[in-house]
Amino acid sequence: MATPTLEQGIDIGDLDSVVLMKIPPTFSRYIQKVGRAGRRGKESGVFLIIGDDPISNYYAAHPDEFYRSTPEPAYLDPENPEVMKRQIVSMVYDQPLSSNEEEKLNREIKSSEKVISNLLKEGYIERTRRNALTTTRDGVALHQSTKLRGTGEDIRIYTMENKYIGDRGLPMATRELHPEAIYLHGGTQYRVMDFNPRRAIVEQLPYRSKYFTLARYHSDMEEFEPELKRSAFKAEIAYGAGTIRHIVDGYYQKDKTTQQTVAENDLEETIIFDFPTKIINFNLPLRMSWNPTQRGSASHAAEHILISAAVTLTGADQAEMGGISYPDGSIVIYDGAYGGSGLTRLLYDRMEKDFKRGAEMLATCKCGREDGCPKCTYSPYCGNNNKYLWKNGALEILKQILRGKKTKVEAKPVGKSTV
Ligand SMILES: [Zn+2]
Ligand SMILES: [Zn+2]
Repeated sequence: MATPTLEQGIDIGDLDSVVLMKIPPTFSRYIQKVGRAGRRGKESGVFLIIGDDPISNYYAAHPDEFYRSTPEPAYLDPENPEVMKRQIVSMVYDQPLSSNEEEKLNREIKSSEKVISNLLKEGYIERTRRNALTTTRDGVALHQSTKLRGTGEDIRIYTMENKYIGDRGLPMATRELHPEAIYLHGGTQYRVMDFNPRRAIVEQLPYRSKYFTLARYHSDMEEFEPELKRSAFKAEIAYGAGTIRHIVDGYYQKDKTTQQTVAENDLEETIIFDFPTKIINFNLPLRMSWNPTQRGSASHAAEHILISAAVTLTGADQAEMGGISYPDGSIVIYDGAYGGSGLTRLLYDRMEKDFKRGAEMLATCKCGREDGCPKCTYSPYCGNNNKYLWKNGALEILKQILRGKKTKVEAKPVGKSTV
């Protein structure tokens, strides 16, 4: 089995076959995993067991496309202000930055000037008498709290006995560590007893639960400042920085084997979390004759399939990108990482392909169901349990875009969002 443990330096020279339980999110990760077999020149085999999801279904219909892929380009956003903020503080902590070096930095990375001026204002860095930049006491603290793995804030997880067991990054933590959630950590199941934006308290389950929990949530685009605009076919697409709000107000209890929902519960207190990130925004052409439910369900299904298609186009993991749909046809796709990861920037240039592949993925699935199925419209990250989806409505919308229907980005989405 190609488990993650095998990445940790076990001698893999003798392996002669690799079994993959699902399609890895990127082709690079596929190569990394299958490359473990046949190291010593012996005959070897790879078994890829595909799942019941839109991405597996797409590649089952187009195996050539998968096997002829090349490793995806790595994505990063050198202008990510959250990353830059911490990088600059750490750089200045390491050695004060002279004014010459500061000028050079500002020439090379255009947004660094703004980040430096904010850091001065926020008191993380200060100027010396010789006009070099150095860290303040708060700056040293920020440097020491900077991790190698991510930029955003973390939730610290403790047991009832006050034993620290690990961290989980925000915003994902709001969906996984809400009160009553079943949380899997290091192979052990815990129940979350308490949660606040800094820490979660968990209790180990005395039995193996046959259920798992899924947060009921929705998101909203709170702020958006378009920096780039272009047309894909004739649909106007905007890209820029903004704020996404996550609102978790309940959860579904689901059976692990059948995936059926056995209960739906409200949270005593709604969890609201805002975070800055990078965003793509555009509007779908909805039919005037559709009723409000049809409009919302078609947009919702289109948003799901566009994210599934984007995963195959950017090499992202599905959890690394989020989507929001509005009944007015407005669609928001954002980087799941705090401050943005550069993924949506990559997708912005590939939106034609995204519309095309999304339409193809819907047309390929022969489920014949009104709402679609796990092989086409469903998403494992849906905040409302894959309700209100309309497959043919979504296909109709995407076909309209491919045919060159004109749409414009609206100033602000209208109506209740679905994720
Ligand atoms: Zn289907
Ligand atoms: Zn959804």
